[in-house]
Order: sequence, then structure tokens, then C-alpha cells
Amino acid sequence: MRQIYLDNAATTKMSPAAIQALLPCLDQVYGNPSSLHSPGQRASEALSHARERIARQFNCTPRELTFTSGGSEADNQAIRSAALLGARQGKRHIISTAFEHHAVLHTLDRLEREGFAVTLLDVHENGLIQPEQVAQAIREDTCLVTVMYANNEIGTIQPVAEIGAICRERGVLFHTDAVQAAGHLPIDVQGQNIDLLSLSAHKFHGPKGVGALYVRKGVPLTSLIEGGAQERGKRAGTENIPGIVAMAAALDEACGRMEENAAKVSALRDRLIAGLANIPHSILNGDPTRRLPGNVSFCFEGIEGESLLLLLDDKGVYASSGSACTSGSLDPSHVLLAIGRPHEIAHGSLRLTLSEETSQEDVDYTVEAVTQVVSYLRSMSPVWRDLETGKQSFVIQ
Ligand SMILES: *Cc1c(COP(=O)(O)O)cnc(C)c1O
Repeated sequence: MRQIYLDNAATTKMSPAAIQALLPCLDQVYGNPSSLHSPGQRASEALSHARERIARQFNCTPRELTFTSGGSEADNQAIRSAALLGARQGKRHIISTAFEHHAVLHTLDRLEREGFAVTLLDVHENGLIQPEQVAQAIREDTCLVTVMYANNEIGTIQPVAEIGAICRERGVLFHTDAVQAAGHLPIDVQGQNIDLLSLSAHKFHGPKGVGALYVRKGVPLTSLIEGGAQERGKRAGTENIPGIVAMAAALDEACGRMEENAAKVSALRDRLIAGLANIPHSILNGDPTRRLPGNVSFCFEGIEGESLLLLLDDKGVYASSGSACTSGSLDPSHVLLAIGRPHEIAHGSLRLTLSEETSQEDVDYTVEAVTQVVSYLRSMSPVWRDLETGKQSFVIQ
């Protein structure tokens, strides 16, 4: 049976280059970078080298990067640090959007319970926010704006540079969760006026459990984990050398082939979108062009996303209904609700995220598989019968 992995927004397969970079760190460069002896120094050099390679890809200095256990930790640390800094100046207002990753939203929930005020900007039906919304929401006591670079469920790309410019002008810190963007879209923290940025290796063919937080020079970072003085006291714990070295290799590879990959993958994405749009009463989620090269997200009326996923799995198509974090729960995706999809429609969602390894045959097979499964599920659904006989009216025309 064909096996088609279309869940690259949840995680990616490690690239051969990343694996090759990682392996010697397990048994050769095994020292603790804090040790003064030669094995320790070799590890310390590997760490510095990786930091320099990563810094180059984002146009920052190596000292502005702190390694973390991944995107969630970077998001938590960025937001907590900015909040603490704000509180010291009597500024306790934070601006974000309704469709951030839970690593951001749940951190904001916690801060709200600790006395911060949070404004969540409405997301337009096309999955974008306007920079003017940020400008209008900024108050005297705003200490942070946090808006994701690209959405993990519907793939839409936010006007980060414009938001950054507004924040810089108004003297407010700007954080962006760039976990879906890093390695896939060009990022220039200086040109885009970004103060804090989160990334995670496993979303660009690096290993899981490693990421980084960029913090502009002069912005003090608060440590979430107490312990040793690693990462210049900003993040305790012996550095994950294999992970960090492999992340640098994966990022270099992804950035080196970014244009080529984006052209190839977005052509396949558009072919997949065109194919799925032929299914009656279906709708694409998110702007058709201002989206990640590999992201396809649809809602199908009269369908339960979970049944769709299980039947697709039987056909060797590995997809998701939204974010991996909400799968297993019966709540509809907060992202789809944020762009105004009604509950019953949000339940019938399907996210297919492509990679450089996806082929045109994979796409054509997937279109056929989804078309068959949707039609099969509808043929058994009492809701669908009511829609067809006019007892209930269609939401998606
Ligand atoms: C995957 C993801 C995260 C979490 O990253 P981890 O490394 O898995 O903790 C955060 N934000 C976005 C947008 C993501 O896609």
C-alpha cells in the first residue's frame, strides 16, 4: 500500500543531513560543554559552531540565541520574560490573536490569572490579522505583542514586518512564534523588527525536543528553569548537543533550498487544493495565497473529522484534523472557530501538510482517497440526508 505522510505541520521526518550531524555527538563529541578538559571543549566548540550557523540564518548574533527544549518552552519563556519586564514598569497589558498555538494561549491564560490584561485580536475569515488592528489595540500599559508568524492549522502568514514596525515605533516588545515558518519562509529579525522569536527543530526535519529563542540584545530574559549557568544563565541544564548540532544542520539545509522547495511544494499544494475543491460543499480554510507552501486545510460539510482521518489512515494517507495537540479531544479547533467556522463545520476539518518528499502521484492519490471517503461517510450520515432533502440547509454552498 502507498504510504503518504501529510502531517508535516505536526512533525517532520529527520533529514539525512541532520541525522549525519547528530550521530557523532552521541559517541565522539560526548563531552559536557561546561567541562574544561578536551572532550568538554570539543563539545563547547560544536555548540558555538551550531549557534553561529543558526544565527546567520535569522540575521542575529549568536549571543542573541538561547537553546530550549522546543517551541513550547521558547514561547513560554519569551512571553513570561516580557510580562515580568512589563510588570516592573507597571505595564500589564498583552496583545495577541485568538488563533495562536496553545503554548502561547495557555501561557496568556496563566498571566491573566496573575493579573495581566490580555487582548486577543479577531482574526479575519481569511486567517489574517491587519497591522492596523495591532496599532489600535496598543495602550499606554501594553508590554508585549505576540503574533504567530504562520499558523499551524491553516497555514496563513501574518504581516510580521508591518506589525514589528508598529511595535518598534510604539516602544512595545514584539514576539513571534515562528515555529511553522523557520526553515520554510525567509526570516530576518532585524529587517522585520522582531524582538523575540521562537523556533523548533522538528518542524524543519531536525530532531524533536530542541528549539531556540531569539532575544534581541538588551532585552533581559528570565530563566524558567533554575540550575547551572548554561546559556549565560538564561536556561539551566546541560546543553542538548546532539539536538542542537542536528538542528543547525537541518536549518542550513532547509534555508539553502528554501526557494526551490517552496516553488515545488506550493505547486503541489495548489494542485491538492484544486482537487479537493471539487468535492461538493467543501471550503478551503485560510487565504489561498498568503499561506505556507505545504499547508492545505479544508472543511467538509456533514462529516466528522475523526472518522475521515481513520478511513484515510486505512488508505495509507496520514493526515490530521487540526493541530496534533487538540486531536483526541472532541472540542473543535479554536483556530477554525476563530476564523468564524460554525462548530458543526469546524468538526469536519482536514489538514494535509506536504513536504519536499511529497510527489504529484501522492497528491493525486490523496485527492481520490479523500473524495471517496467523504462521499462514503456522507452516504451513511443522517445529517447529510437532512441536508440533501432540504430539512436542514447547507452552511457551505
Ligand atoms: C509545533 C508548534 C509549537 C510547539 O513546538 P514544540 O517544539 O513541539 O514544543 C509551537 N507553535 C507552533 C506554531 C507549532 O506549530
